[in-house]
Amino acid sequence: MSELNSLILERIRDVPDYPKQGIQFKDITPLLADPVAMAAVVDELAGLYQVDKIVGIEARGFILAAPVAYRAGAGFVPVRKKGKLPAETLEESYDLEYGSATIEVHRDALAPGERVLVIDDVLATGGTAAATVELVRRTGAEVVAVAVLMELAFLGGRERLTGVPLHSLVIV
Ligand code: AMP
Repeated sequence: MSELNSLILERIRDVPDYPKQGIQFKDITPLLADPVAMAAVVDELAGLYQVDKIVGIEARGFILAAPVAYRAGAGFVPVRKKGKLPAETLEESYDLEYGSATIEVHRDALAPGERVLVIDDVLATGGTAAATVELVRRTGAEVVAVAVLMELAFLGGRERLTGVPLHSLVIV
């Protein structure tokens, strides 16, 4: 295991039964509070691909994607839950365990042909990331990859990301 791998694992805290019984929540706040770990993560993610835009998924994806965009000399684009973005949007809905969710991006935030890296903190079932990939593709931009801090492999999210590379800094 690499030094970065173990640093990330040490700084992500498991919180049992949050937000509900049976879920083990991966809390990244200890990592965010450690400037050495945070810098290592941001540098690693910024060095992966040459892209025009970094798309961050609300909300913890924003915290990682914004400094990665700065470091990579790329633009930052937020993908948000429905109703939060002020200008004209494209939207995409996806199924959750109970019900569904809708996410949006500003219609003019990405242009055809632009190269995009999508970033989030945790990949669980993959529904959120897959919907984000679809949303980005509908703008005409190209999704170069999805990158996450942590992939929960037992939930099989990787299989939902068809035709796009998934780069996980740690897989548990
Ligand atoms: P999913 O669509 O199931 O892959 O869920 C991914 C989204 O939910 C990400 O934005 C994560 O921040 C959040 N998430 C899902 N499961 C967890 C977990 N066990 N710990 C922390 N965040 C999670």
